[in-house]
Amino acid sequence: MCIFCQIINKEIPSAPVYEDANVLVIPDISPQAPLHWLIIPKIHTESLSSVLPDQALACLLVIQRLVKEKAVKDYRIVVNTGAEAGQSVPHLHFHLLSGRSLAWPPG
Ligand code: AMP
Ligand code: ZN
Repeated sequence: MCIFCQIINKEIPSAPVYEDANVLVIPDISPQAPLHWLIIPKIHTESLSSVLPDQALACLLVIQRLVKEKAVKDYRIVVNTGAEAGQSVPHLHFHLLSGRSLAWPPG
């Protein structure tokens, strides 16, 4: 079972920022910005290419809700897909990064 499924199943402890029936949000263990959260659909799937539409939409709505609630003004959403793009955990997740100036284009 992948590490995010183990976190979702509470086999590995985490400190969720947000959780509902479809989505878990946790702080990234290796933050790349002052705010770096991972928005994770609970049903295991590897990427946006395979995710169920409802699960993808649930993640986007949680992002919208959290940035509104926490008054996160400027932020970046990143979905690394595949090894060449930097994906290291084979379970779809959205990075939410904020709190510093972010370079563009990415390296
Ligand atoms: P990616 O490289 O896009 O697949 O992103 C995976 C992210 O998961 C990385 O930013 C890691 O720092 C993060 N990560 C890995 N293990 C954990 C964990 N146990 N708890 C929180 N974040 C994790
Ligand atoms: Zn998984």
